[in-house]
Amino acid sequence: MSAHSIDRRRFLRRTGQAALALPLIAGPGQALARRLAELDGADAAGSSLTILHTNDQHSRIDPFPMDGGRNQGLGGFARRATLIDAVRAERSQVLLLDAGDYFQGTPYFNLYKGELEIKLMSAMGYDCVTLGNHDFDAGTDVLAQRLAEASFPCVCANYTFSNPRLRAQVRDSIILTKGKVKVGLYGIGIDLNGLAPSAISSEVGFANPVETARRLERQLYDAGCHLIICLSHLGMQTRVPGALADPDLAQKTRHTDLIIGGHTHTFLDAPREYRNELGRKVLVNQVGFAGLRLGQLDYQFVPTGKQVNSTVKTVK
Ligand SMILES: [Zn+2]
Repeated sequence: MSAHSIDRRRFLRRTGQAALALPLIAGPGQALARRLAELDGADAAGSSLTILHTNDQHSRIDPFPMDGGRNQGLGGFARRATLIDAVRAERSQVLLLDAGDYFQGTPYFNLYKGELEIKLMSAMGYDCVTLGNHDFDAGTDVLAQRLAEASFPCVCANYTFSNPRLRAQVRDSIILTKGKVKVGLYGIGIDLNGLAPSAISSEVGFANPVETARRLERQLYDAGCHLIICLSHLGMQTRVPGALADPDLAQKTRHTDLIIGGHTHTFLDAPREYRNELGRKVLVNQVGFAGLRLGQLDYQFVPTGKQVNSTVKTVK
C-alpha cells in the first residue's frame, strides 16, 4: 500500500470522527487513542521515548571559570555529553534536541564562528535543533555553512530566507522515528527585527508563529505522528507589544504535545502545563542557558494518553 493511500485512510478515519463531540478534557481523541494503541503491542521500551533538551548554550564550551561567580565550575559540553551518554545507556529510545542560540557568548564563537559548537553537537548526537536570534550573529552565509557541517537537521517554519544557501539548510519540520514511535518536530523562530542588525533581519522574513504552528502541527498529525514537538525560540514571555510567546503557542494550537523553549533563559524546575484549544495538556519546558542544565522528559505511551515524567539535571 502506498504512503499516500495510508494517509488517505487516516484522513477518512479522522474526518469520520469529526462529527462526534470533541472531548472537553485531557484524554486523547479517538483517532489519537487508536494511534497510541498501535504502540501498546510494543514492549515497555518500544512504547516509551525520552526527550533530552538544551537551549541557549551560547558557546559555553568550557565549564564556568572558578571565579567565585554563581555558576563557577558548572556546565561545559564534555560534562553534558557524559550525562547524555548515561541516559542513552539507560533508556533505549532517546531524542536530543536544542531550541536555539547555540552561538555567541564566549571568545570561541568570536574566533571560530560556531565551528566548534556544531562539531561538538554533532559528536554528541543531537537529533534536531531550531534557530535562535544569536545563531545569525556571524551572518547568514556562515550560519548556512555551519548547518551544512552539522550531522543533525535544523527546523524553523516561520522564517523565509532570501539567502538560498541558508534556505537549503533549514526545513519546516521533520519526522523522526524511534522504534515504533513517530515524532513530528517543527521549529518556530522569534522576529529578528530589533534583535539582529537590520542587514541580517532584512534577509529573514517572519510569519505569524501561531498560524505557522497550526499549519505544521496539522501536517504532522495527519502524517500519523504519536508525539508532536515544537522547538521554539519565542521565549516564555515577551515585552514586545503584540508579540507571541510559548504560552500563547501552547494555548492556541491543537496537536502540539510539547514546546521546548529558549530565548528568555528561563530556569524551570518542571515544565509548565497549559491546555490547548481542545482542552488537552501541552507542556512548555526551558532549562535556563549556557548548558548549565539538561532537561529530561520520559514519555510512556498508553492508549489512554501520554504519561510523562520530568527531571532536570544540573551539569557539574
Ligand atoms: Zn539566548
